Amino acid sequence: MNIINNPNPNISRNKRTGKPIVRSIESIDRLVFHSMMEFLVEGEGLHATQFLEEEAGYSAHYLITPNGLIIKTVNIINIAWHAAGFNRTSIGIEWLVPGYATLSEFYKIIKTNWLSEAAYKAGIELIDDLKTECNFKHFNPHSFLSPERKQDPGDGFPLDEMLSVINS
Ligand SMILES: [Zn+2]
Repeated sequence: MNIINNPNPNISRNKRTGKPIVRSIESIDRLVFHSMMEFLVEGEGLHATQFLEEEAGYSAHYLITPNGLIIKTVNIINIAWHAAGFNRTSIGIEWLVPGYATLSEFYKIIKTNWLSEAAYKAGIELIDDLKTECNFKHFNPHSFLSPERKQDPGDGFPLDEMLSVINS
């Protein structure tokens, strides 16, 4: 597995001490699937590169690039900010959609077959590895958890296929 570390400071912290909240591995029961892209239009969305910076106010535990590189941005024992209402008990993985687009183009692209073979395989390897530590009960696309606000990872993401491989 090809993993690099690029820590994202956007994690839940103890309000008094400022120290990152550490959760137990046992408390993690959900894996959330996301997709994101580099956006062309200022103000229309979040650049993938900004996603790794503090100002964006978001984070996930991993970002997988189209060439299959896994970027670990938050330790799984820490709480990332990727799925409102579910952050405390979940791990979030973002897959980076190739290319640049406006937000409205992004919504169209994620309905197509955009996931590269390398990113698909990297995802399965990563999840297989996480499953040795975490007892996931739920595997959810972000759009399932926030149907009003979110469309990612999109109808083009082969979630069923991936889950059948992961659970076999
Ligand atoms: Zn998402």
